[in-house]
Amino acid sequence: LKDGGIVDLFANFHPGAPTEGVRELGARGIGLYRSEYLWLNHELEPTEEEQFQAYKSAVEFATSLSECGTLTIRTLDIGGDKTVRGITIHEANPFLGNRSIRYLLSNRDVFRTQLRAILRASAFGKICILHPMVSTIEEIKEANLELEKVKRQLDSEGIPFDRSILVGIMIEVPAAALNAEAFAKYVDFFSIGTNDLIQYTMAADRGNESVANLYQPLNPAVLKLMRMTIAAAKRNGILVGVCGESAADPIVGLLWASMGAHLLSMSATYIPVMAKLFSRLTREDLADYLKTAEAAGGDVTADETYARCHAWLSARIPDLDQIAI
Ligand code: PEP
Ligand code: MG
Repeated sequence: LKDGGIVDLFANFHPGAPTEGVRELGARGIGLYRSEYLWLNHELEPTEEEQFQAYKSAVEFATSLSECGTLTIRTLDIGGDKTVRGITIHEANPFLGNRSIRYLLSNRDVFRTQLRAILRASAFGKICILHPMVSTIEEIKEANLELEKVKRQLDSEGIPFDRSILVGIMIEVPAAALNAEAFAKYVDFFSIGTNDLIQYTMAADRGNESVANLYQPLNPAVLKLMRMTIAAAKRNGILVGVCGESAADPIVGLLWASMGAHLLSMSATYIPVMAKLFSRLTREDLADYLKTAEAAGGDVTADETYARCHAWLSARIPDLDQIAI
């Protein structure tokens, strides 16, 4: 920010994605590494060694981006719209089915292999582990126990890893946002996945054009969940970022930062615009922006909130339209 306040801008990234441009566009680290790409479009499950090699090169790249460069590896986010031949099975409602952490907890060998590969790679640079689609406390407790077991196993084999590796969860199910206060006691950070959080809150398929009008990042219900999550993280002294696509929308991403998100992670192409905007605003501006967005209250439409925010931002940054193209 203009006054020295910091909002970190990180890149979303996945195995096989080109690294060219990521540094030049200004990414300071990798805030979301979608590990499922190692499974998608491949005939066979990746072995521990293949995963280790991929994570190792990704962390070396992420830590080279800046002095605070880290690699946040999201554990296998499979299922939903990400189906893998021979692994995922047909479900009537895949988005409400056995996806992500649910899949990992019911396929422990897959989970353990991935955790081993991540921990081994953590000896080569700062890695954070991020579990997707968590909706109950039992899931995170189980995931934490599994991680402890894998750590003990590596210890007994004399294999080095980062003992203080941070563990976080995606907040992308309304149940997790509503219960964020409790979840904060079990993890080191939250990463809010607005792509799914909006879809589940509004019961509107994120990929279905015919209900796209209901897919509203600025719906008052979504804003409440965002506020609750970020406030719970702050009260409990843990970090909170946003890694959904909404973070890259100047109007919306700015709002998440003004609510207190310390990190926004997005496709690297959007970083320069966000960086430019933040460099022209102060902490005081962000507080004022939040007031503008929230003055509307719960009975206002998402479009009205967008219009208010847009008016505020255009007044503050007259060349907004040139910057944000
Ligand atoms: C999200 O849900 O916001 C997210 C970042 O994850 P994905 O888009 O991979 O589901
Ligand atoms: Mg998601």
